[in-house]
Amino acid sequence: MILPPGFVGAAFGDAADGDPRRDPEAGRRLSARLGIPPDWAWLRQVHGAVVLRADGAGPLGEGDAAFTTRPGLPIAVATADCFPVVIEGDGGTGIAHAGWRGAAAGVVGALRQTMSAAGIAPRRAAIGPGIGACCFEVGLDVADRFPGRQSTTAWGTSSVDLRGELVAALDGLDVWMTEACTMSDVGYHSFRRDGTALRQVAVAWLPD
Ligand SMILES: [Zn+2]
Repeated sequence: MILPPGFVGAAFGDAADGDPRRDPEAGRRLSARLGIPPDWAWLRQVHGAVVLRADGAGPLGEGDAAFTTRPGLPIAVATADCFPVVIEGDGGTGIAHAGWRGAAAGVVGALRQTMSAAGIAPRRAAIGPGIGACCFEVGLDVADRFPGRQSTTAWGTSSVDLRGELVAALDGLDVWMTEACTMSDVGYHSFRRDGTALRQVAVAWLPD
């Protein structure tokens, strides 16, 4: 698990932390370690840019970002190559799930804007583990969506630097990020590498 330094309520889980969506025991374990309630709010992720407000635990509905102003309500996303992003602000916190489709749709900017519109000034953001430009091989159809972010995989084919795209969407905020790549670092679930249905989770909360 990664706890981004300087954040009041953000954690990026890895494969060993388990997936609380499928395994309540993993959820209880993670919650106890983090000192947060075991009932989290979840999104039905669809790789879009819809932002939902979380006022209670459980399923929030279809969307790829959520924010809350309720202290002690953990909000979570599940990923395996997509990037989890946490935005902390004054009196609220938000979380997003961003793969290439979400990044192209502007999910991180949408979260930031929705939080601002709700009166939460975003202060700092953290980008968790996702697939690096080292591994995110893409065709021209995807590469063309990200002008200026084209890169090369470790094996010399065309790739996109999604992390760089997310950093740009967070321009003006204090941004922390991990360089961990979910595909080349074995401690993470990677859909690209394993075709797995398993996910690592990221969670954000406002402390009580
Ligand atoms: Zn990699």
